Amino acid sequence: MVFNYPINEKIYELSQGQSIFLFMTPALLTCVFIIIFSLIAFPYLFKSIVVILTITSAMAFYAALQYNTMFDYAMIENVFESNVDEASSYLSSASIFYLIAFGIVPVLLLLKVKIVRNVSWSKEIFHRAALISVAIVGMLLISVFYFKDYASIGRNNSYLNKMINPADAFNTVKYINNTYLTEPLEYITIGEDAQIIPAKNGKPTLMVVLVGETARAQNSAYNGYSRETNPYTKDLGLIAFQNVSSCGTATAHSLPCMFSNMPRTNYNKERANNQDDVLDVLTHAGVKSVWVDNDGGDKAVAKNIEKEMIADNADAKLCNGSSCYDEILLKGLDQRIQNSKGDQLYALHMIGSHGPTYWKRYPDNIAVFSPACNRSDIENCSDEEITNVYDNTLVYTDYVIAQTIEKLKTYSDKYNVVMLYISDHGESLGENGLYLHGAPYMIAPKEQTHVPWYIWMSDDYANQKGIDKKSVIEKAATGQYSHDNLFHTMLGLYGVKTDAKDNALDIMAIQS
Ligand SMILES: [Zn+2]
Repeated sequence: MVFNYPINEKIYELSQGQSIFLFMTPALLTCVFIIIFSLIAFPYLFKSIVVILTITSAMAFYAALQYNTMFDYAMIENVFESNVDEASSYLSSASIFYLIAFGIVPVLLLLKVKIVRNVSWSKEIFHRAALISVAIVGMLLISVFYFKDYASIGRNNSYLNKMINPADAFNTVKYINNTYLTEPLEYITIGEDAQIIPAKNGKPTLMVVLVGETARAQNSAYNGYSRETNPYTKDLGLIAFQNVSSCGTATAHSLPCMFSNMPRTNYNKERANNQDDVLDVLTHAGVKSVWVDNDGGDKAVAKNIEKEMIADNADAKLCNGSSCYDEILLKGLDQRIQNSKGDQLYALHMIGSHGPTYWKRYPDNIAVFSPACNRSDIENCSDEEITNVYDNTLVYTDYVIAQTIEKLKTYSDKYNVVMLYISDHGESLGENGLYLHGAPYMIAPKEQTHVPWYIWMSDDYANQKGIDKKSVIEKAATGQYSHDNLFHTMLGLYGVKTDAKDNALDIMAIQS
């Protein structure tokens, strides 16, 4: 029951303080749990199940209490696809306390308990039947008297069922089943007809795609934020899209979705894993695409192309043994470009604003906003300190974008050069008590779904590719776009023609 304190509190809050709900929700959940656990209460099996549930629930309990996180399917997917460093960034004295106090101690006590078996099976069955009956009667009584209240709260707040502990455990089983125990889908090739439209000046194209992490549009100076979080690029002529929504609220969902040709409403992870994404279509057109990763991995986006994971100790100045600053992504770029020829694309996956260890994302000399929250149990920082540390990550990201553009400019004599930056999802910084990200999309606040998207192209690039730059600037200011546009817009921006491109979604081609 302790683990369900967050949902009890929420229902109580939603019932506008009708005090009866303080007792009713725990009572109702107790009845449900009695029924479920009575049905699975066999020796050995029962104890193992309860041990796993207690440990996972203790962790979910901490996350729900501190960050208002819900352990729905997308969240479990994210947990499983996080690397060790990401996971350890959540470690703090508080989270370890919760794990020990509500997970390990109860488990040890439980293991000491001897389950006394009834002498005869008939007695055992009778006892259980009686227990279940009492629970059912209890549920019925609550339903009869309070059905209306629960129904209205439930209908308006369908996310509540995701808050019931240990729902996380059931989602984990579902994830393992979907990921490891289901037969793979048949692979679909997309855009095999893709062709580069030759530029008038005959030069090949060099594109860098910076794949952002956890940057929200709200805190971008380009999107109207009052603080200067884009000091390094402000004179470089970036085109900043004002209204862009993400596909998901977590990396494991957004990343494969945004590079796929599936719109958010149709997105299916298994399908995405078994078909070409936009990087593959570019490969079909003869572009050499490379994925370089300084974050939690490519989530199968780079499954068919050359890929490099940056090691945590790749550079003495830029890495600390557990993570690297994003400048590391530019370090090997010159060599890669100089060793290749023809059309190229580098997708650089940034660690960006990955929390809750925001302060580890940027070097000290970048910290323009202070005091900054420099601990991972961010709930113990003031809102001002959290905003400061988060904004510092955006300033550093802006620095890396500027460095990328400066580097690309040095290649403009040999290539038509272009840069695209887009974030995978946003972040909550304490608005409505929410922190981090990963809220179910239906109820996710705009802080988690409204993302920055910038494009840098010179007038000459636009001219070579037949892009009406002025119209793109206008569309960026007023149009409503989303990750759905990325697949088609990358092809339009690169200058690739294929039947797989939908001009209605290519921002370069949309008639404004
Ligand atoms: Zn992410």
